[in-house]
Amino acid sequence: MTAPVVVIGGGVVGLCTAYYLAEAGLAVEVVERRGIASGASRGNAGWVCLSHSTPVPAPGVLRYVLKSLGRPDSPLYLRPLPDPAFARWLWRFWRSSTPAAFRRGYAAIAELNRDTFELFDGLGEAGIDTTLSRPGMVHAFLSATEARHHLAVQREMAEGRYPLPDDVTTGAAAHRLDGALSPRVRAAYLVEGEGVVDPEAFSRALGGALTAAGVKIHENSEATGFRYAGDRVIGLRTEQGEIPCSAVVVAAGMRSPALLRELRHALPLQAGKGYSFSVDLEPAPRHTLYFGERRTVASPIGGTTRIAGTMELSGNNNRLDWRRIVAVARASRHYLGPWFEDPDDLVALIRDPWVGGRPFLPDGLPVIDRVPGHDNAYAATGHGMLGVTLGPVTGRRLADFILTGRRPGSLAPFGLARLQR
Ligand SMILES: Cc1cc2nc3c(=O)[nH]c(=O)nc-3n(C[C@H](O)[C@H](O)[C@H](O)COP(=O)(O)OP(=O)(O)OC[C@H]3O[C@@H](n4cnc5c(N)ncnc54)[C@H](O)[C@@H]3O)c2cc1C
Repeated sequence: MTAPVVVIGGGVVGLCTAYYLAEAGLAVEVVERRGIASGASRGNAGWVCLSHSTPVPAPGVLRYVLKSLGRPDSPLYLRPLPDPAFARWLWRFWRSSTPAAFRRGYAAIAELNRDTFELFDGLGEAGIDTTLSRPGMVHAFLSATEARHHLAVQREMAEGRYPLPDDVTTGAAAHRLDGALSPRVRAAYLVEGEGVVDPEAFSRALGGALTAAGVKIHENSEATGFRYAGDRVIGLRTEQGEIPCSAVVVAAGMRSPALLRELRHALPLQAGKGYSFSVDLEPAPRHTLYFGERRTVASPIGGTTRIAGTMELSGNNNRLDWRRIVAVARASRHYLGPWFEDPDDLVALIRDPWVGGRPFLPDGLPVIDRVPGHDNAYAATGHGMLGVTLGPVTGRRLADFILTGRRPGSLAPFGLARLQR
């Protein structure tokens, strides 16, 4: 019997990859150090969207980061770390923030994203409860100038790949685009068709489909290293013993660098920590909401409202800083109205405060590639703000790569070699 392809990581990226490999008839096993969706794939905002294909390194963003130094209430917060790898990451991030790099990155992600909704539909047709709905996304702003600037950038980048409105709605009509918005919102626009899932439920549904298809999921099992025969990986070492494999996929989110190191490859990845919580609002948002100036978001998920935001660069860990939860809640008040007065009341008002590490590479693009030096080791990580959106297309394309041995053209911008330059 052929040894299975072993996928390391039970987040949305690993599960989607496992799904398409199993669908093609390969033997597959998943190894997950905790449980399904125990990493970034649990409490995120669940957006499945085409209109946010933006890589984080963008013109002007470093100035923004530097201004945030020592300000834990800033949407983008950097805590300097005494670590040369972190300094190198920042240097590369800065070099990726040019208009040309931003444009290239946006186009690459937008192109990869093209089939996203079709793939979600396919998963639904295969009986997986993706939980996807497509209420559309309202981009809300406190100033019309900001709103127009944002729409103009999106229009320029979208190049007709998804529909955008001709102009922003201003004045009192703006906040009426969604009943939950406050009259302080002075400009807004709706991008129709944008989607949202309950990311934990989606991941669990994928896990259920895998189990039903005979895929073994090893939970509470940490991958620690590999066994080789020449350039080929023939076994995955875990805390519970070794699993023979015909190929291995590293989809371990912010912990991927340690496994890539075992494969003798350096991966410059940092966690961009984000926070979320749930709250019952009256009225609750019907759309997904993007709060432009504060880079905070709200999503209708599981009958309640999930508010999420912030990007904190403070090491690859899951330490939750309550000040950041308060900062996200405060930012949302500008757009949703004063749903709380005293931050001390948040403990009673909100549920499930959560932190997750978005896996971030310095140019803001994922890697979906074969690991150089190995015939049968692959990496799929670094999806940053877009892992849920890009999960199915990543899994689909990587499965094609593994099955045919040829890298699909759409994966060319997501190679590992670009990070060694
Ligand atoms: C606040 C916030 C909001 C977000 N909103 C959105 C959004 O609206 N839309 C969107 O598309 N994306 C969003 N994201 C980003 C998205 O959450 C991530 O890009 C995505 O979850 C990454 O998935 P992953 O499978 O790569 O990583 P993870 O979900 O972190 O999965 C990796 C898994 O690997 C396991 N693992 C690690 N090391 C090992 C090991 N050695 N052995 C075995 N298992 C291991 C971990 O336990 C984990 O379960 C958001 C993120 C945050 C933080």
